[in-house]
Amino acid sequence: MIAPPKIAMVGAGIEGAGAAFYMATRHGLTPTIFDPEPFSGASQVAAGMLAPVAEAVYGEERLLDMMLEAAREWSRLDEALRAAGLESGYRGGGSLLVASGPNDVAEIERTHAYYLRLGLAVKKLRAAQARELEPALSPATGPAIYTEIDNQVDNRVAHRSLLTGALKAGATLIERRVAEVSRRKGGWVLFDDQGAEHHFDKVVIAAGVRSGEIGGLPGYMSKALRPIRGQVLRLRAAPGSGPSLVVRSLWDGRLVYVVPRLNGEIVIGATAEEVGFDPTRKARSTYELLRDTFKVLPGLGEADLAEVNVGFRPGTSDNFPILGEAEDGLYLDTGHFRHGILLASITGRWIAEAIATGRTPEGMSLFGPARLEARQ
Ligand SMILES: Cc1cc2nc3c(=O)[nH]c(=O)nc-3n(C[C@H](O)[C@H](O)[C@H](O)COP(=O)(O)OP(=O)(O)OC[C@H]3O[C@@H](n4cnc5c(N)ncnc54)[C@H](O)[C@@H]3O)c2cc1C
Repeated sequence: MIAPPKIAMVGAGIEGAGAAFYMATRHGLTPTIFDPEPFSGASQVAAGMLAPVAEAVYGEERLLDMMLEAAREWSRLDEALRAAGLESGYRGGGSLLVASGPNDVAEIERTHAYYLRLGLAVKKLRAAQARELEPALSPATGPAIYTEIDNQVDNRVAHRSLLTGALKAGATLIERRVAEVSRRKGGWVLFDDQGAEHHFDKVVIAAGVRSGEIGGLPGYMSKALRPIRGQVLRLRAAPGSGPSLVVRSLWDGRLVYVVPRLNGEIVIGATAEEVGFDPTRKARSTYELLRDTFKVLPGLGEADLAEVNVGFRPGTSDNFPILGEAEDGLYLDTGHFRHGILLASITGRWIAEAIATGRTPEGMSLFGPARLEARQ
């Protein structure tokens, strides 16, 4: 009998944990996962929106099919987690994009027309129809766009469950940082931050925005990623007292989103700033996020402001993820930017398939590392 390949996963954020979960539960592979702090990255800060519609933006249409497939895959992944006695906090019901004032109505029209051109199932609602659907909306809000496609998971719960599920199915976690990878005859050696060597047949790099800092990767990886800072707030209210749908609102062109969990947590986000790794929880950003939220959901003013968090989205030079085999046995699973919670389902499935079968799933080939090599 041929022994299964020895696989290393570098990074246990939602991408590494997700791919390890699929490997262990679908393909009987038992990866060794390296991460000094598995719950320290963007996956714990994010809002958890699964939003192919909201995230459909000009110039990034190439992502649309993958995002739609990722949203469908999440409902299957949620079932797989529940079958294993775990949870993802998956919540359906759809989401609304609301005009907060008269200046935003034209943008709602334009966005609606764009969604229709992309063939997305969306519905334009008059102000009164939107308030009927989401009674927590302010009486001053204008027309809205509703879609059933965009939903949410509780990213903290889902991330933890994927890692737990992978470990229960045979994966191992080593709480160390990988400093360098090096190719050796027939495989790869990993050097951890304590100087120990670990030998594997295949390696997956899923270290989020820090992926390019690992030594021994192809040269283009040193410049492939940039941090996009995001500040988010977490409120706590009595379960059921906030909105029931994900609400995104426009106010004079500024966008804020509000993601209500069943347990009463309400996530409000987010800034997007290209300022390097600045961890400051800025008072102004907190003020602006709350101000824009109260304009559309005034009832949230009584909630407890429980957390202010900053995270770093793993942005890439072309805003697309980096997925696939970079060198023989060295795989990249990073650069998921604004969509990493959504994409964790499909990229986890694809990376696991690629490792198990040696073949690149069709959708994944659009985002291969070769494009970065060509641009070096
Ligand atoms: C404010 C904000 C809101 C967001 N909202 C959403 C949203 O609503 N929906 C959505 O789809 N996406 C959202 N995102 C994006 C999403 O959070 C990221 O794309 C996703 O979490 C990336 O996951 P990851 O596993 O690649 O990275 P991370 O979660 O950052 O995990 C990387 C892991 O790698 C480990 N690591 C780093 N270096 C090494 C090393 N050398 N050796 C070993 N381990 C290492 C780290 O310790 C960390 O645990 C949001 C992001 C932010 C910041």
